[in-house]
Amino acid sequence: MQHLANYINGQLTAPASGNYIDNYHPATGKVYSLIPDSDSRDVQAAVDAAKAAFPGWAATPAEQRAKIMMKIASLISRDMEKMAQAESKDNGKPVSLARMVDIPRGISNFEFFATAIMHFAAESHAMEDHAINYTLRQPIGVVGCISPWNLPLYLFTWKIAPALAAGNCVVAKPSEITPMTAFLLSELCIEAGLPAGVLNIVHGLGGRAGQAIVEHPEIKAISFTGGTKTGAGLAATAAPMFKKLSLELGGKNPNIIFADCDFEQMLKTTVQSSFANQGQICLCGSRIFVERPLYEQFKAAFVERVKQLTPGDPANDHTRMGAVVSQAHMEKVLSYVELAKEEGGTVLCGGHRVVMEGELREGWYIAPTVIEGLAYNCRTNQEEIFGPVVTIMPFDTEEEVLMMANSTPYGLAATVWTQHLTRAHRVASKIESGIVWINCWLLRDLRTPFGGVKQSGVGREGGFEALRFFTEAKNVCIKL
Ligand code: NAD
Repeated sequence: MQHLANYINGQLTAPASGNYIDNYHPATGKVYSLIPDSDSRDVQAAVDAAKAAFPGWAATPAEQRAKIMMKIASLISRDMEKMAQAESKDNGKPVSLARMVDIPRGISNFEFFATAIMHFAAESHAMEDHAINYTLRQPIGVVGCISPWNLPLYLFTWKIAPALAAGNCVVAKPSEITPMTAFLLSELCIEAGLPAGVLNIVHGLGGRAGQAIVEHPEIKAISFTGGTKTGAGLAATAAPMFKKLSLELGGKNPNIIFADCDFEQMLKTTVQSSFANQGQICLCGSRIFVERPLYEQFKAAFVERVKQLTPGDPANDHTRMGAVVSQAHMEKVLSYVELAKEEGGTVLCGGHRVVMEGELREGWYIAPTVIEGLAYNCRTNQEEIFGPVVTIMPFDTEEEVLMMANSTPYGLAATVWTQHLTRAHRVASKIESGIVWINCWLLRDLRTPFGGVKQSGVGREGGFEALRFFTEAKNVCIKL
């Protein structure tokens, strides 16, 4: 069985403990590789390497840093098929999705920040003829990046790339549930000639390896994407240490459909925004509000389309719905279906595990699920499920739907479907979330600010926001 390795000081290394954790293949439910069970000793070795590499990397001209990052991007591109297969196998997502979204985005993240850093400028403030201030934006030093399992390479590189571009050295930890493409990335960094210690990848459990990163006094900033509860615990540790923190957390996103929308376009996109990646995208819309005159028409058409979306082997090119990531997650998602029934909901389709044939028999598949008849403020409609389960609810007025949309503790993303221009702008401005898509979903421009409000997070990633996060601003004032 394959043993993955940490990437510390430019070398692939075994964990100090000598222990490994099982890594599962969601499509079959079987263990297929082993992950280093790293602890504070491995994190210490990674910090030592990063500290030693920092002066050299920070002093390397931005163009040179960018060249190495572009090389890493081109190597991911060369290995696109291998990476896509690995991502699909590790996560359970359809290989077509990994090919179309995950791996291309990993490449774009490196390319985007490699070029962004060459256009990143700081401000100056003149005080008439008395003085001039200028801002230096300097790399922080050693920073930590911790990412989740749902978009493994995509989100891992979304943090690492701006951190490296800005001149920091990184200690990163991918999710222990989906470590494979991060491991493959470490091999490509070695091939690309990234200097030793600039990027260190430590695999292992959140409570052990992750916690050691967060607690380490010499890691000055943490960029974290994951669950809200984990983020709160992380902040409790890091805040008294005065670390810079960027937290991208959970969501319970509303999808608001007005009767005047472009029905076909809305329907097609709503199936995607509900069930892409088995509903395991933080940006998926899980609460669908439909204006009452359109409700019955929407319900019939939507359920019919969703019934056609049957789970299949993620490795098959034609599969559009794969396995969910773990047995524990499958059980959590199905427990929410039971809760929804207890809360008075009616399951219109799905709502159960799908048992496949042959070697996929033990895999973790859930039929895409649509539920109606629930109150907007019940637990099913307030808590993050993060799986292929959506609820549909009618609404009568704009005020009512805004109240329901804004009623959760979360505020990550929202989608609005209407042809009414001023209403679109009005609703967008009143929704409590970091991102609003109008008549589209997941259309991403990497220059835009990305993040959530309320319990969906603190801080923004994307574009120059990420470069600002990964630098310290220093004002220099010169008296003239
Ligand atoms: P998680 O919080 O369980 O884990 C995320 C990462 O944190 C993993 O690498 C994990 O090992 C690590 N971790 C766990 N405990 C830790 C600790 N005590 N100290 C340091 N690190 C620790 O989340 P998950 O289940 O992997 O991901 C799903 C969650 O991520 C969902 O809530 C989803 O909404 C959220 N998410 C948010 C965004 C966003 O951009 N806002 C994007 C994707 C996923």
